[in-house]
Amino acid sequence: MDYNFTQEELNIRETISRFAGKEIAPLVGQIEKDKKLPDDLLEKITDLRISGLPFPEKWGGSGGTYISFLLAMEELAYAYFPCIFYPLVCSMVGYGFLSYASDYLKEKYLKGLLTGSVKGAWAFTEPSTGSDPKQVQLKAVKDGDHWVLNGTKRFITNSSIADIAVIFARTGEAVTAFAVDTQNPGYIVGKREEFIAFEGTDNGDIILEDARVESRDILGEENQGFSILLGVEVFAKIAACAGNIGLGRAALDLAVQYAKEKTHRGVPIGAKFQMTQWNLATMASKISASRAFLYSVGAKMDKGEHLAAESAELKIFTGAAVREVASDAVQVHGAYGLTKEYAVERLYRESKFNEVILGSNEIQRVIAASALMKS
Ligand SMILES: Cc1cc2nc3c(=O)[nH]c(=O)nc-3n(C[C@H](O)[C@H](O)[C@H](O)COP(=O)(O)OP(=O)(O)OC[C@H]3O[C@@H](n4cnc5c(N)ncnc54)[C@H](O)[C@@H]3O)c2cc1C
Repeated sequence: MDYNFTQEELNIRETISRFAGKEIAPLVGQIEKDKKLPDDLLEKITDLRISGLPFPEKWGGSGGTYISFLLAMEELAYAYFPCIFYPLVCSMVGYGFLSYASDYLKEKYLKGLLTGSVKGAWAFTEPSTGSDPKQVQLKAVKDGDHWVLNGTKRFITNSSIADIAVIFARTGEAVTAFAVDTQNPGYIVGKREEFIAFEGTDNGDIILEDARVESRDILGEENQGFSILLGVEVFAKIAACAGNIGLGRAALDLAVQYAKEKTHRGVPIGAKFQMTQWNLATMASKISASRAFLYSVGAKMDKGEHLAAESAELKIFTGAAVREVASDAVQVHGAYGLTKEYAVERLYRESKFNEVILGSNEIQRVIAASALMKS
């Protein structure tokens, strides 16, 4: 299928695809065992400057398109979906700073975030909620020119490696986004999370204990936190969908390969059984539709369109499509698909994540339906 990518976008896709195949794919077994990305791989990913791809050169970005960023996410994830979250979150924080930060904060952090010398974390979720800003309990109390933050954030990607964390805190009835330097003595890295998959992400609690933050370190305006959250999550949500689709492509390719290799009475199952063919064809159609949807949303993002509802629909559609594709890939492999010997079992576990993270798909339905009702 021709998606009318520019030569530059195709070059970026090719570069990242080659990198991921050579540098990431061979390490997946080790990453899953060690439960972390090796430091030198983190450095290599940083050196690719993926986080800055879709941002202005003035701030250390590459001046590329958002589509090129999506293609990079897709290709990285084709090799190993969890590893995209390190550059994706840095980029998300960069997007937050570019869109909402004062000149002071931009000067201090933005270039580093986009060139990779500064790592970012984005912390909204708490032990009691990841969906409802009204339930945010981490509290900021004003004290002269400072705010004092106390509380716990949960499930935060990059929380132990970040240099700067955007912390959403309750300020009275509303929520405010604070840029908290992780060298702040009140920033404490808490327990690490163990998920059903995603070993290659740095994820866990952040505890804020009497963390004093200057008033000038507020992102945007006081009490503007929720709209910042929603705006920046659109950027990140679409990129996570790109990664998830990369995972789905990998599952499809593994299923096709298996269907060619596994024989029944001397004939490959993909040539012999119509049910296997039906499975493969259904998987391929879901991936093709997901990619077309992704690139059309990406192109609109490049035009600066408002995409709250469409990004929600993209996450709903592609989340289910990729989960079904990963499940069907296991099915094509039969019992072998349930063993640790074949990668499809890991892809199956990983394929559930994008239906939960960055706003559960129930919340995405709330966003999409409310736009429909207002139309
Ligand atoms: C690998 C990973 C990485 C993550 N990284 C980050 C990160 O970097 N920063 C961060 O802030 N968070 C992060 N999260 C958290 C993630 O964004 C939240 O888990 C997600 O938003 C859902 O929130 P929750 O788990 O608190 O669910 P809850 O909000 O407790 O919801 C529980 C259930 O109730 C449903 N529900 C809740 N409210 C409504 C409603 N109004 N209408 C309908 N249904 C509703 C939900 O859909 C869900 O099914 C990460 C999570 C994972 C697994």
